[in-house]
Amino acid sequence: MLKKIDHVGVVVHSLAEVKAMYKALFDLEPVFEEVVESQKVRVAGFSVGESNIEYLEPTADDSPIAKFLEKRGEGMHHIALSVDDVQGTLNRMKDEGVRLIDESPKIGAEGKKIAFVHPKSMNGILLELSQEA
Ligand code: ZN
Repeated sequence: MLKKIDHVGVVVHSLAEVKAMYKALFDLEPVFEEVVESQKVRVAGFSVGESNIEYLEPTADDSPIAKFLEKRGEGMHHIALSVDDVQGTLNRMKDEGVRLIDESPKIGAEGKKIAFVHPKSMNGILLELSQEA
């Protein structure tokens, strides 16, 4: 059911600074960069083996990411696990009493179906379920 760690999400003030750092340190360019309107974030993903590190920059003051930055500063935000069926996984977790943030999938970066699970049910980690488009 769980296929791999799809990505680790890190919240930052400036994607431009992250891209410059990766270029200088690792000669690495993002494998994708896009605005995800539903989340009010700009995302750039760097490929590390079979997983990505995704950096998230808010595009609006009322973005959930902007609130995170304000409260906690830059840092790790979530872990995304790749699954075959986000909705099926959500249903199963709900049946087990897990606290969900999203009851059904939304469209995230790279057109993937995504949904978030509350950190209170996941040992303090915000979990994202991700399904290939
Ligand atoms: Zn993510």
